[in-house]
Amino acid sequence: MVRQSPKSAPFMYQNNTIQDARNCEKDVFNALKHNTLAIGYLGIAEMCQALFGKNHVHDADVHAFALSVVKRINKYAAEASERNNLNFSCYATPAEGLCRTALIGLRNQYGIIENVTSHEYLTNSHHVPVWEKVSIQQKLECEAPFCKYPTGGCITYVELDSTFVKNTKAVEDIIDYAFKVLDIPYLAFNFPIDSCLDCGYQGEFNDKCPQCGSENIQQLRRVTGYLTTDYRNFNDGKQREVLDREQHSKYTPQINQGSNES
Ligand SMILES: [Zn+2]
Repeated sequence: MVRQSPKSAPFMYQNNTIQDARNCEKDVFNALKHNTLAIGYLGIAEMCQALFGKNHVHDADVHAFALSVVKRINKYAAEASERNNLNFSCYATPAEGLCRTALIGLRNQYGIIENVTSHEYLTNSHHVPVWEKVSIQQKLECEAPFCKYPTGGCITYVELDSTFVKNTKAVEDIIDYAFKVLDIPYLAFNFPIDSCLDCGYQGEFNDKCPQCGSENIQQLRRVTGYLTTDYRNFNDGKQREVLDREQHSKYTPQINQGSNES
């Protein structure tokens, strides 16, 4: 990467867009030395499953082990920064492409192992797998301790049903709990928005509009932090991940009660 010529992407090295960009002649090292060099990790859940037969949401000892792995990556990044005088970081990544390519590699090596290589993707960073039927609290409490260590970035999601937009009190409660109690730095709510492109109906539906029957629909889902026009534009691995997602609001009794009242 640092041996790349600045001519391969000239717009990045013109107009002083990056510190020292004007000092890049043969290669881009002088500019990229200011950047973050992220060491990303994914599939912590699958790693635990392979080693212990269960993932980190189900067992405190497994959780402690998973956390120790991420702490080690964080420490390695700090050591590498010191050693090389560069900005290495630990990064909790959704691995848009690698979630699928790494899975294929593992399958070729080890075959299909239940909940390790049996899904069509590897799980985002240290996240609780999308297929786990856990409550909002369980999801947040499991992931919160990890958030200190990926200095290159992380996100915590909860999956909600589409009725949630009417239950602002419940949304506030989740935000307060995540930020004030668990110290989660970056929280996001996912909920499905399906739109009929013919009559304009919005809600959550599958193949066709419940109002006019049209199949000319758009299905908006937050897949990896980006709001795409339609999740079916993502690769096979991420599309399957969306279909496997459990809604944590379903397994959170107080919240269900709240949404019925509103
Ligand atoms: Zn319609």
